[in-house]
Amino acid sequence: MKKYLMPVIMLAIFEAVAITLWLTKNNIFYLFNFSYIGVSISLGVFLFIKKYKYARRLVQLLVGLYMLIYLGLICGENMQIEGFWYYLFTGVFEAATIHYAVAKIFGPLIFGRGWCGYACWTAMVLDFLPYKQPQGERKKIGWIRYVMFAISLVFVSALFLAHVGNIERIMFWAFIIGNIAYYGIGIALAFIFKDNRAFCKYICPITVFLKPMSYFALVRIKCDKEKCISCGKCKRVCPMDVDVTDNSRKRKNGTECILCMECVRNCPKDAL
Ligand code: SF4
Ligand code: SF4
Ligand code: SF4
Repeated sequence: MKKYLMPVIMLAIFEAVAITLWLTKNNIFYLFNFSYIGVSISLGVFLFIKKYKYARRLVQLLVGLYMLIYLGLICGENMQIEGFWYYLFTGVFEAATIHYAVAKIFGPLIFGRGWCGYACWTAMVLDFLPYKQPQGERKKIGWIRYVMFAISLVFVSALFLAHVGNIERIMFWAFIIGNIAYYGIGIALAFIFKDNRAFCKYICPITVFLKPMSYFALVRIKCDKEKCISCGKCKRVCPMDVDVTDNSRKRKNGTECILCMECVRNCPKDAL
């Protein structure tokens, strides 16, 4: 039974967040929202323990579709980075700000880039493409993420400084257009670089938050050096080019790990 402790702990953490936000903000939406995400993630961890091959993909679809369709399109909440800046500037501690605080800023101190492996609706689509393992060398164009980050901040700041009316509506359309652009660029880059996760590696502005925070992540894949036979399979199957056999925090591309568990599943010696 000990092996099933992890999904129970995950569910307990999400329920604690759900109940705290429900009671402090007097809004039952938070109870529903975080309970749904907690149940989806715990189910995925449970299925992974049961060795179900598509456990991660199932969670990705459950959480990603909920966020994109229900929160984004139906509730009109911009969960992209522009939405975060918008709610931050208006001083409203609402779904987008809470979402960023939990999933992308403070959460990664515990579960690293679990968001990128199990919940992101952009990667949910990119992971269907044919290049699950990158076919070429990593490119030195990661600086683009900082440009994207700055553009999103300048865009929202300009709307406030120019006192543009009905920013809420602009944010809704920014969400729609932004997502179409992300999917278009993401799919094009995946085929150009023969790498499904090229968008995540070079373009995504959210990694400006995710990478430094996940450096300190509590949950990490570690290698048992006693068992490892240095076959290199873990590096070959890793979608993010992480040198997972190095246990130090400075491991190559360490802040890129999305906890997808491909290395763990493929290690012939159960060393990870
Ligand atoms: S890097 Fe960005 S696009 Fe990729 S999974 Fe993470 S949040 Fe989503
Ligand atoms: S796949 Fe396993 S045995 Fe092979 S190098 Fe990686 S950790 Fe070592
Ligand atoms: S294959 Fe392993 S090291 Fe690479 S991203 Fe997935 S969990 Fe992290």
